[in-house]
Amino acid sequence: MYRLLIILGLLIVLYFLVRSAIRELREKRGQDRTVTDKNLMVEDPVCHMYVPRGSAVTASVEGQTYYFCSRDCEQIFRQQRSSRQP
Ligand SMILES: [Zn+2]
Repeated sequence: MYRLLIILGLLIVLYFLVRSAIRELREKRGQDRTVTDKNLMVEDPVCHMYVPRGSAVTASVEGQTYYFCSRDCEQIFRQQRSSRQP
């Protein structure tokens, strides 16, 4: 009977250890997500090609961030924007 109580106590401790380990793992995975965001594919609004965010050409136009495959596409986008406006 005494032994059973020890085993039960150990099981409870183990349960809490596993639970906190899982929680830590989940938090770590959440942090990794911001790192892997660089590998997130973003669409070029000009040629509609998908490029990884980390290597994309970024341009912020009117407070919005756009991603392009190259500087050429960025230039075309800016020209399109300015020609659309009166
Ligand atoms: Zn492009």
